Amino acid sequence: MLPHGAVTDRRTQARLGGAALSEVLAALWPGDRQSCGTSLGSDKPSLAIDDLHVFTRATVHHRACRAPEWNDSRALQTSSSAALTWRTVVLLLPFQDGRRTIRAAGLLVNPALEEVSLTEDASGWHPCLEPAFAAAGLTHAAHGMPIGNPAAGVTGYLTQTAFSVGITGCMERYTCAAAPEIRAAAAKLGGFVLIVTHAADPHQLTRGNLMDAFASPLTLVGWAQL
Ligand SMILES: [Zn+2]
Repeated sequence: MLPHGAVTDRRTQARLGGAALSEVLAALWPGDRQSCGTSLGSDKPSLAIDDLHVFTRATVHHRACRAPEWNDSRALQTSSSAALTWRTVVLLLPFQDGRRTIRAAGLLVNPALEEVSLTEDASGWHPCLEPAFAAAGLTHAAHGMPIGNPAAGVTGYLTQTAFSVGITGCMERYTCAAAPEIRAAAAKLGGFVLIVTHAADPHQLTRGNLMDAFASPLTLVGWAQL
C-alpha cells in the first residue's frame, strides 16, 4: 500500500473508478528501484497505467520522472521490468495434521513492489498477479495450504544459508536468507510453501497483514518441492 496514495490523472480516475483505483493503490508499495533506479522515498508518487491491449499494468514513479497518465498509445513509456523491487521473507507456518501441529517453512515473495498487472472483467478493472504464477500451479490460499503437494512449475532450492525458488515462466529466481530452524523445517518436509503476493510488503509483515494477504485475491500459494 502506498502510505500517501498517488497522484492520478482524470482519465485514469474515469477509466478505473474509485473502487478499482483503491484496489490498485493497495497493491502497490514504495520500492527501492523506480524506473529511474532510485528509491521512491516518502514523496507522493504518480500513477501511470500502460494499456497495451496485450497486457495492462499500473506503475508508480517519481512525479518528476513520469506524469500520471492512462497511456494507451501502445508505446511502452519505460522499461521498468529491469528496475523492479522484489522482496522476500521466510516464515514458519503452523498447520494442523489431524491432532498434530506441523510447522512448515514458507517463502513469501512480492514479485514487484512498484508494478501490478491489471485485468478487466464485467465488473471493471482489477489488479492481478502475473498469469505465470497460476500457470505454474499456484492456487488461492482459500483452497487450502498445499503442504507436500508440489506445484508443477515450481522448484525449491535449499542452500547452507538460504531458500530460493524457480518458477516456470518467471525470469527471476527469488531468494531469501533463512535461519537454521526454518531450513530444518524445509528439509524435514522436503519443501516449503511459496506465497506470491502483491498484498503485502515482505519487509513490513505482521501477523495481521499476513492473514489479510492470505485472504487477498492478489495472493497465490503452492508447494515448492526441493
Ligand atoms: Zn525517478
